[in-house]
Amino acid sequence: MKQMSVKKKITLWYTVFMTGFVLASLFLVLFLANGRMLSDAKTHLKDTVLRSFLEIDYEEGALEFDDDINYLGEGIYLSVYNSEGALIYGRIPASFDGAFVLIKDTLQQVHSSGQQWFVYDSCQDISGYGTVWVRGILSPSFSDSSLRTVVFCALILSPFFIILTAAGGYSIIRRALMPLQKMTETAEHISTGEDLSRRLDIPPGADEVHRLAHTFDGMMDRLQTSFESEKQFNSDVSHELRTPLSVILSQSEYALEETSSDAERTQALSVIRSQAKRMSALISQLLTLARAESSRLALHPEPLDLSILAELVCEGHAEAAKKRGITIFTDLPEGLFITADETLMIRFFDNLIANAVTYGKEGGNICVSLSDDKTFISGSVRDNGIGIPPESLDKIWNRFYQVEPSRTESACNEGHGCGLGLSMVRWIVKAHGGQIQVSSAVGKGTEFTFSFPKKFLKNEKL
Ligand code: ADP
Repeated sequence: MKQMSVKKKITLWYTVFMTGFVLASLFLVLFLANGRMLSDAKTHLKDTVLRSFLEIDYEEGALEFDDDINYLGEGIYLSVYNSEGALIYGRIPASFDGAFVLIKDTLQQVHSSGQQWFVYDSCQDISGYGTVWVRGILSPSFSDSSLRTVVFCALILSPFFIILTAAGGYSIIRRALMPLQKMTETAEHISTGEDLSRRLDIPPGADEVHRLAHTFDGMMDRLQTSFESEKQFNSDVSHELRTPLSVILSQSEYALEETSSDAERTQALSVIRSQAKRMSALISQLLTLARAESSRLALHPEPLDLSILAELVCEGHAEAAKKRGITIFTDLPEGLFITADETLMIRFFDNLIANAVTYGKEGGNICVSLSDDKTFISGSVRDNGIGIPPESLDKIWNRFYQVEPSRTESACNEGHGCGLGLSMVRWIVKAHGGQIQVSSAVGKGTEFTFSFPKKFLKNEKL
């Protein structure tokens, strides 16, 4: 039984159940119908016997029997006896040889010649003659005959009914469970690493199995995306590390050449140091992101004055902005308190403002603003720089994504220019239960708008 498929188990179960149910119903109906027919037959027998007295007269010294007495009750044998019990008129079935004693107004059930009979006796005084007995004998086979036809038909039809039910049910179950079959095959293909892009593609349906199939497809979409982004991430990391490493290798070989002068060696060492710094910044960014995304980065929420914090970060970037002729404007109302992790909030503003300085227009401006929104603090960082093309807007949050790496003037340094800044920004927002959006127009500028709940909400799905 355990080895059987669910389809067969369900079909077998309900076929057995249906068979039992049909047979039980049939027997119940037969039992009730039989009881009812017997009771009708008994009443009919009594009536017939009592009515038969009306057909007996005593005239001119002899008993006279009206012909009607022979047609009184269908299937009932009537016989007339005198007060001594001697048969004076009527018929007795040939196979009936029991119940010789006449008992007044009592229905007897008699077994004779392997058959069951009902016998009803009654007596009345016929004026001028004296007591006359009438006996009615009924063979229940009469009442059985129509029932027997019903039973016969039911027994002939039941196997067809059961086969039809089993076949119909099996085909419905097979069709209903088809997505499960496809799901198993797809899961097998995926687990053997054959093809992650396979989907069930079951036509829409509202039942549980269809919903499961669509959830399965949705889950596979997400798995494929995360698997591919993981692959992309690995190749990006290798690529990002290979470039500085090959520079370090070539520079060190160059420095070690006997023909190199001291000045050339110093130059080579300086290149090696800057590449090593780039690698170190990249690795530390990656570590932070990896810890953050695997929920191993503990948050330390504390009450913060967000206005002061944003102001300090803006001041930190004033020097770099000035070099590009960019003015940073702020609209930071006093006393905007929030419960959040200070280090992460500094990094949040730092990444957004550093990007605004890097990708802002020379001689342009940046506007950093915050506002109180009842339970939220909302804000934005806006620049009038080069902007982001619409097709890149969704991708800028991905690790290592850079619209055009050549647009980044500074090499990956101090966490900027590696394509990791906005991934970190998005994670910080998520970790604090907030939201962030970007809107941009190429050549006109970019605006990041965000909101954080004032009270720290632990986000379960970091
Ligand atoms: P990066 O370290 O390269 O700045 P980010 O993750 O911070 O990486 O940003 C991803 C990419 O999004 C950047 O390479 C840049 O092309 C684009 N970007 C981010 N902020 C801005 C902005 N304010 N203006 C224009 N482009 C931007």
